[in-house]
Amino acid sequence: MAERSHLLGLDVGGTKIAAVVADGSGEILAKIRRPTPAALGPDGIVAEMTDMLAEVAATVSIAPLDAAALGVSFGGPYDPVRGVVRDIPNLPDWGGVPLYALLADALPGVGLAIDNDANAAALAEWRFGAGQGADHMLYLTMGTGIGGGIVSEGRLYRGLRNAGGEVGHTVLVPDGAECGCGHRGCLEAYASGPAIARRAIEKIEAGEGDAFRAVLRDAGVALPDLRAEQIVEAARDGVKFAMDHLAETAFYMGWGIANAVSILAPEVVVLGTVATAAGDMFMEPLRRHVVDMAMPGVGEATRVEPAGLGDLVGDYAAIALAADVLGS
Ligand SMILES: [Zn+2]
Repeated sequence: MAERSHLLGLDVGGTKIAAVVADGSGEILAKIRRPTPAALGPDGIVAEMTDMLAEVAATVSIAPLDAAALGVSFGGPYDPVRGVVRDIPNLPDWGGVPLYALLADALPGVGLAIDNDANAAALAEWRFGAGQGADHMLYLTMGTGIGGGIVSEGRLYRGLRNAGGEVGHTVLVPDGAECGCGHRGCLEAYASGPAIARRAIEKIEAGEGDAFRAVLRDAGVALPDLRAEQIVEAARDGVKFAMDHLAETAFYMGWGIANAVSILAPEVVVLGTVATAAGDMFMEPLRRHVVDMAMPGVGEATRVEPAGLGDLVGDYAAIALAADVLGS
């Protein structure tokens, strides 16, 4: 039998599942991707997962049972104490599914760790990305939502109900914009990808941003379809409205991060998605706002960096969980 050193990973989202295999150091050797067969329900999806693991493991001439560990980065809320999935909107029928037991039964003797994608991504940036070597790290995405994870002394800080690190739902603006969580004024309602687009649309509808509107017209983008990426691209091209809008976003995000920095005093804050795409023109003002608003003495000492893993974060998230099981 092959030496049990390979790590397997599954990155499970509402629309697609990726399966990866890595060597013992975490270097990814192969990857396959399939659409999530949501209509099959949990049993069908678990069968698809094990089938994908067999296929990806075969690329390095092993069976899944020969792997040292499997990590599963799950795109929804997961309870690691009970090993079950909580109710999630984007994968119907998953509430209460004992994912840990199902996969452990399918792969006896293989180490197994499952966590939500934000925690898993935090671990990945700490182990393989921009947070390497940090004793205390806060990771935040600026994607569909503002997901977050905290790694402290090499371990995830999970908090009650695995809900620690949800900086996106700290309230910035009393009675402010509506948030997906049901509250108002959360950071996520100002600085997630959809919130960045919504704020821009509101300004344009109020008559601002003629030049940016012309850019969108030329690109054939209707205003309701505007995405944060298009604003970042226009800002990179020097369109003033887009640059100002990103600067305002850096203010909101910097404010939210400053609050978190005052509580956690992390060595480094790692920011994914929009922050990575926008680069220095976003990160520089954001860093100034963090220094201005965090507790004096702490904000200056905290590094704020773009994520290091880019589009590969999901793959490494799963592998980071697998490596974590082994304590390596
Ligand atoms: Zn919220």
